Amino acid sequence: MELDKQSSWVERSLRSVWHPCTQMQHHESVPLIPVSHGRGAWLYDHEGRRYLDAISSWWVNLFGHANPRINAALKDQLDRLEHAMLAGFTHEPVIRLSEQLSALTGHVLGHSFYASDGASAVEIALKMSFHAWRNSGQSEKQDFVCLKGSYHGETIGALAVTDVALFKDAYGPLLRASHVVASPDARQAGEGETAADVARRAARDVKRLFTERGRHIAAIIIEPLVQCATGMAMHDPLYLRLVRELCERHQVHMILDEIAVGCGRTGTFFACEQAGVWPDFLCLSKGISGGYLPLSLVMTREEIYQAFYSSDVRRGFLHSHSYTGNPLACRAALATLDIFREDDVLAANRVRAARLTAALAPLAGHERVRHFRRSGMIWAFDAVDAPADFSRRFFSCAVEHELLMRPIGPTVYMMPPYILDDGEIDGLAARTQAVFEQVIGA
Ligand SMILES: *Cc1c(COP(=O)(O)O)cnc(C)c1O
Repeated sequence: MELDKQSSWVERSLRSVWHPCTQMQHHESVPLIPVSHGRGAWLYDHEGRRYLDAISSWWVNLFGHANPRINAALKDQLDRLEHAMLAGFTHEPVIRLSEQLSALTGHVLGHSFYASDGASAVEIALKMSFHAWRNSGQSEKQDFVCLKGSYHGETIGALAVTDVALFKDAYGPLLRASHVVASPDARQAGEGETAADVARRAARDVKRLFTERGRHIAAIIIEPLVQCATGMAMHDPLYLRLVRELCERHQVHMILDEIAVGCGRTGTFFACEQAGVWPDFLCLSKGISGGYLPLSLVMTREEIYQAFYSSDVRRGFLHSHSYTGNPLACRAALATLDIFREDDVLAANRVRAARLTAALAPLAGHERVRHFRRSGMIWAFDAVDAPADFSRRFFSCAVEHELLMRPIGPTVYMMPPYILDDGEIDGLAARTQAVFEQVIGA
């Protein structure tokens, strides 16, 4: 009976739902799993099988599924105000959230502009940068710079500053060209080189471009510390300091895309804190609502805000989305920030991270594993001589071991919610090793 129910959901989904980032034909061989409910770090299907959400449901979930504190906040908000437009009107959740985020940057980034998804936040940062220069009489600043292997979302503007061939190539003719500079990916370190050496080398590429063309460049966009979607490429914070200096010298805006790495993921609330720099624009999404509701935002400085402040309507930033600043999403974000404070999450994560790193030591030393690396609550390693279809085979095998994991090419990574207990941490490490050995055929 239950079995029928599960397979019928799969069939109905495949008939009517076009799933994201998926070649639908692959579901002829790869399982599609209908989720019935979630609790803590676990997702449950209709047959009562469970899956440890080791990648936080695409990096969004911070404090588990059906978190009682976030649920309570949302239930309260639901009876007050589900939504109101944010032009001409305002409301308590969006005000409190903007104030608290500003405080987290020491009020350097004191103005927050809202949207619903990460790609839209990137679009907003790009448009704001261009428009701020234009309003300041520098309309020749029209170019954008991104890093090799960068990922900033799938909309036309965000894809233009993305450098992942698989996502970008089909749409090439639709996209405005941007400058692609070297990635500071520490895996490029040669014999006797450190991650800082790689960072210096990559910053020299930025310097070369800014020197040649800085007059025409509006902004450089960077995912600080970890380029996630390209395969968890990690770099030394020195890179961000060097690029910040170059941005100041050449009058180029720095956009930091913290959509994946923000909200404590790399060990500090904002990744850029580890470099001791603040950007001109900071994009947040994914974890900010605890993984509950679509919410994104761009934080910026007073000078940028002032460049738009005028009696002339056309000098304003006239961008909008219907659900801009949705009260429910903002309330989920406030509950998320409350948990960070009340539970001293960043400190607790250091303890979790030490335990999982220790538990992964045998895997880190495996002869078919290289570049085992970690930044905060992100672990990654690359499979040596990975078989064809490694990623899909790993996903299917992981499902058999009650794990939700989706490697990126040969890169296996974990990005778990910040709630795993000791048993879950040890289980995650043991199961990941079992899956890896089975798939790699060792
Ligand atoms: C996920 C992601 C985006 C896009 O966010 P969406 O909500 O999927 O549009 C942009 N930048 C980075 C770094 C991301 O990880």
